[in-house]
Amino acid sequence: MKNLIKLILIPILIVSCETTTPYDQETADVITRFYGDALGERESYNLLRDLSKDIGQRLSGSEGAAKAVLWSKEIMEGYGFDSVFLQEVMVPHWERGTYEECFYYEGGKKINLSILGAGGTVSTPFEGVTAEVVEVKSLEEVDVLGREGVEGKIVFYSKAFNQRYINIGTSYGETGFQRRLGAIKAAEYGAVASIFRSLSSSNDDYPHTGSMSYKEGVDSIAHGGLGVLSSIKLSEKIKADPKTKLTVRLSGKWFPDALSHNVIGEIKGSENPDNIILVGGHLDSWDVSEGAHDDGAGCVHSIGALRLFQKQGIKPKNTLRAVMFMNEENGLRGGTQYAENAIKNNEKHIVAIESDASAYIPRGFGFSGSDEQLEKIQDWLKYFDKNTISYFSKGGGGADIGPLHRRTGTPMFGLSIDGQKYFEIHHTAKDVFEAVHPREMELGTASMASLVYLIDKYGL
Ligand SMILES: [Zn+2]
Repeated sequence: MKNLIKLILIPILIVSCETTTPYDQETADVITRFYGDALGERESYNLLRDLSKDIGQRLSGSEGAAKAVLWSKEIMEGYGFDSVFLQEVMVPHWERGTYEECFYYEGGKKINLSILGAGGTVSTPFEGVTAEVVEVKSLEEVDVLGREGVEGKIVFYSKAFNQRYINIGTSYGETGFQRRLGAIKAAEYGAVASIFRSLSSSNDDYPHTGSMSYKEGVDSIAHGGLGVLSSIKLSEKIKADPKTKLTVRLSGKWFPDALSHNVIGEIKGSENPDNIILVGGHLDSWDVSEGAHDDGAGCVHSIGALRLFQKQGIKPKNTLRAVMFMNEENGLRGGTQYAENAIKNNEKHIVAIESDASAYIPRGFGFSGSDEQLEKIQDWLKYFDKNTISYFSKGGGGADIGPLHRRTGTPMFGLSIDGQKYFEIHHTAKDVFEAVHPREMELGTASMASLVYLIDKYGL
C-alpha cells in the first residue's frame, strides 16, 4: 500500500515541479524597477498628453490620423529604437459632416435630443427626415412589427445597459446589436431612419458613436445614437403620445479609401532577432473625442514598454516590436494588413500583446494560447503586485492582433483593465486626456513591459 502511494505521488510531484520555477530575484528586481520608473517618471502619460492635446481626434483617413502616424514615428525615432518604419494600409474614409440634430415638438415648443451619428452613417436630406417613431428593444421586435408597423417610420431601439453585471462589458455585448445592425433591420421593413439608445452605463446625455453596418440590397438609412437621458425622455414622450413625430438630421459622408499606415518600432533581439514579441494598440480613434483611453493609452503603453527596457539597458533576447495599428474602429484594416505582411515576409511572432481596454487600473491579462502555456504562466503571478496584475485568464487578446492570431496561431494576450467606468466615456466626447489618471495609466505601461520581460526571459 505504501509503495502504491509512492508510485502515485512521485509522478504528481514531478508534474507540479515542472510548472513552478524558483523565485528569481533578478526578475523581481527588474519588474520592481519597471513599475518604479513608469510611476516615478510618467513618460507614457506625457506622451499621451501630446497625442491627445496636440493631435486629438484620429479617425481613419483624417488629417489627425495622418499626423498621429508621423508623431509616433518621430517619438520612437527620438528614443533611438533600432528601427522604426511605416507599413502601408488603405483605410475607409468617412466624415461626420456639419449637422446632427434630433427633435420633436411639444405644445409648439421644440424639444432637442442629443444625438451622434453612428460611425459610417449616411446623411439625411438637409431638412432631415420627419416621421412617427416606433420603439423596440430587439431586432426580433422589428420582425414582429413587419412592414405594416415600420414602413415610413423611424425605428427607435431603446435597450438599456443592464447594471446588475459585475463585468459591465457584458451589457455592451448585449446592446451592441442596436448600433451595429439596427439600420439594416429597420430598412428591411422600409423605415426612413433609425436611432438607438447609446451603449452606455452612464446617466448623462453624452451620446455615443461607434461602427455600424449596411447590407447590400437593403436601403442605407441614417442611423444615430441618442444620449441616455434623451432616450429616456423620448421613451416617456412616446408612451404619452404614441403618434409622436420626430425629426432626425444627420450628415455623414463616405469618401474613397485613403492611404494610411501602421507604425512599427523595434528593439532588435540579441540572441534570436528573428523572433518577434509584439506589443500594440490602435492609433485611430473616433472623431468626437481625443481617443485618450481608446486607444491612445494602448499606444503609449506599447511604446512605453519598449522604453522601459531601454531605460534599464536591458538587451532583450528576442526582437521587441511596438505596433500602432491603424483603423481598429471602423474596418480593422491595419490588423488585417499586418497579418498579411507577416505571412508574406515569413515573420515569426512568438507572441502578440494588445492594450485596448482603456487606461484605468490593469487587473490581469487574458490569454489565447494552449492550456499548457496558460498553466506555465500562472507561476509568473508571483512577480506581480496583486493590486495590479492578479490573474492570467483563458481567452482574450485584442481586435488588431486577432488576424495574426487566427491566421498564424500566434498566442495572444490582452491587458485586462478595471472596466467599471469605461462605458461612461467609451466612444463619446468625454474620452479626453483629463479622464486619464497618470498612476493608473502607468501601471499599464509597466505591466506590459513586465509581461514582455517574462516571455523574453523564460519563453512561453
Ligand atoms: Zn479601441
